[in-house]
Amino acid sequence: MTNAAAAEMVERQLIARGIRDPRVLQAMREIPREEFVAEDVREEAYADAPLPIGFGQTITQPYMTALMAEALELRGDENVLDVGTGSGYHAAVLGALARRVISVERIPELCALARSNLRRTGLDSNITVLCGDGSLGVPEQAPFQGISVAAAAPSVPRALLDQLDDPGILVIPVGGRADQDLQVIRKKNGKISTRVVLGCRFVPLIGREGWQEIDE
Ligand code: SAM
Repeated sequence: MTNAAAAEMVERQLIARGIRDPRVLQAMREIPREEFVAEDVREEAYADAPLPIGFGQTITQPYMTALMAEALELRGDENVLDVGTGSGYHAAVLGALARRVISVERIPELCALARSNLRRTGLDSNITVLCGDGSLGVPEQAPFQGISVAAAAPSVPRALLDQLDDPGILVIPVGGRADQDLQVIRKKNGKISTRVVLGCRFVPLIGREGWQEIDE
């Protein structure tokens, strides 16, 4: 199932929609997405949609993962922060593109699930999964040349901007709880520029620099 299904996903969902970075396309052909979804939705692992992973959370739609990974413009020598590990799939894609990935998840059971998915697939050698509030970043591992946030924030967390290297790129959904804009924020020569890529719908970033749990 894996290779043919992954290759078809890359053709129909990614290349057809304009994803061009050959390293992103290759990573998503090779990483077995079915190993990161629940048993009962394995048949749908390459569907053009987010899928449930338990605890009210989802594995992101493949196109959105590709778009976010491509936006980071990774070449292979970067230190990357991934906020919202979920299943660990997005971290695995980033791990194929960068030198090192620090991935943070707030739900302990998902941290354990992601670690086990990454270990089982042998994709864990340059990925560290930490359990905690990723809206605060991981200051002791900064600076990061790329930061990817897979949960929606009401505004751009100051801590993440501070931990972004110069030059560096942060990709993050920002907006209301229901709908957001995917923002690509570039730090270069001490200046910040922001580009909105598209409208999107992510689960909320719950944390000190995100939404409060009580708002759920
Ligand atoms: N990237 C994931 C994947 O490939 O499976 C999917 C991410 S899912 C859409 C968003 C994740 O962000 C959820 O697992 C959620 O628990 C997590 N999350 C929400 N707020 C967080 C926070 N403050 N710190 C870390 N993780 C958070």
